[in-house]
Amino acid sequence: MKFNISYMIYMSSPASIRPYLTMHIGGTVNKIEHIQQKEDLIRLLESYGDTLFILGGGSNTLFSDIHHDLTIGKIDIPGINTVHENTDTITLEIGTGVSWDQLVAHAVRHGYQGIEALSAIPGSVGATPIQNVGAYGSEIRDVLVHVHVYDRDKKEFTDIQNKDCSFGYRDSLFKHIPGRFVVTSITLTLKKMNPTDQTPIPSYKGVTEKLSEKGIETPSLSDIRNTIIEIRKTKLPDPKLIPNSGSFFKNPRLSKEAGVRFIQQFPKAPYFIEPDGLYKIPAGWLLEQTGFKGFPGPVGTYEHNALVVINRGGNFHDLTTLVTKIQNAIKEKYNIMLEIEPNIIM
Ligand SMILES: Cc1cc2nc3c(=O)[nH]c(=O)nc-3n(C[C@H](O)[C@H](O)[C@H](O)COP(=O)(O)OP(=O)(O)OC[C@H]3O[C@@H](n4cnc5c(N)ncnc54)[C@H](O)[C@@H]3O)c2cc1C
Repeated sequence: MKFNISYMIYMSSPASIRPYLTMHIGGTVNKIEHIQQKEDLIRLLESYGDTLFILGGGSNTLFSDIHHDLTIGKIDIPGINTVHENTDTITLEIGTGVSWDQLVAHAVRHGYQGIEALSAIPGSVGATPIQNVGAYGSEIRDVLVHVHVYDRDKKEFTDIQNKDCSFGYRDSLFKHIPGRFVVTSITLTLKKMNPTDQTPIPSYKGVTEKLSEKGIETPSLSDIRNTIIEIRKTKLPDPKLIPNSGSFFKNPRLSKEAGVRFIQQFPKAPYFIEPDGLYKIPAGWLLEQTGFKGFPGPVGTYEHNALVVINRGGNFHDLTTLVTKIQNAIKEKYNIMLEIEPNIIM
C-alpha cells in the first residue's frame, strides 16, 4: 500500500521542461510523453485533449518559469522513406521525429541536392515547416511537397500541400493557428546529382569566400555542407555548451518607403532588397550598433553574434528583462520594433 501511494505521487509530480529546451529556461509541466507513431498521438490526445503540447527538439521554444498545465508530446516519429524516384529527382517522406541535420547529412551522403545550405540547424524535421526554416538563401518551402498532419479540430489525418502552407519569412499557416495541426511526416523532392552536374553555390559572400580560401572552385554537396557548418560554428554557439535558441529576433523587413528613409538616415546600415521589394535590415547589425554584442548578465548576448541571446544561468524574468531592454533601445534609436523569433509559452 505504502509503495502504491509513493508510486502515485511519483507519477503525478510535475516534470521540468528545461532539459527539453535548448535555452534551458522554463518551469514545469504535468508530464512528458513520447510520440513514436501516429497511434501514440491519438492515444495522448484522447487522454490529455487540449493540454497536449507538441514539442520537437525544443530549439525554438521558450516556456516561462511557472507551472504549465500541459503535457508535452515529444515527437519521436522515425523514418526516411523513398516514395518516388526517377533519374533526376527523389521524393522522400520523413518522420517528424528525425533530427533535421541527420536528414541533411543523409541527403548529402546520397547526392540529393536541395537542403545542403540548411546544414546544422538544430531540431526536428517536424518543426521545419512551422517557421519555414531558412539559411543561406534556402528555405524548407523550396523543396517541400506536402506535410502530413493530424488536424485536431477536424480530428482527422490529412495532407497540406506546399501552396496551402502560407509560407513566408520564418512564417507559415501553422504559426497563425498554433497547435491545430500536428505534423507527423513531411514529403520533400530533392534533385539527384549526376556526375556532370555542378553543385549550386549559395550566393552568400561568407560561403564563396570560405570556398575560395579552401581553393574549391567546383564544390561537391559535401563541400557546401562542410563550409556552412564551419561558418555557422563561428557565429552560433553550440546549445549543449551555451544554452540558446539561435537567432532571437527576426530581421526587420521595411516597406520600400520606410526602407529608403532608413537608408538615408543610416547610410552605413547593411540592407537587402527582397524579391517582394521589402528592405531587410539585419537585426544583428542593429543590436551591435546599440551596444548589445556580448551583453553581460545571467541572460545576455553572444560575444560573436549579438543576435543570439544566451543563457548564462538566468531565468525567464532575466530573459524578458533583456529582451525588453533590447527592443526599447532599438525602437528609440532606429524606430524599429524587433520581433521575437522563438515561440514563447507564457
Ligand atoms: C544554434 C541554433 C541555430 C539555429 N539556426 C537556425 C537557422 O539557421 N534557421 C532557422 O530557421 N532556424 C534556426 N534555429 C531555430 C530552430 O532550430 C529551428 O526553428 C528548428 O526548426 C526548430 O526545431 P525544433 O524541433 O527544435 O522545434 P521546437 O522548438 O521543438 O518547436 C518549435 C515550434 O514548432 C512546434 N512543433 C514542433 N514539432 C511539431 C510537429 N511535429 N507538429 C506540429 N508542431 C510542431 C512546437 O509546438 C513549437 O511551437 C536555430 C536554433 C539554434 C539553437
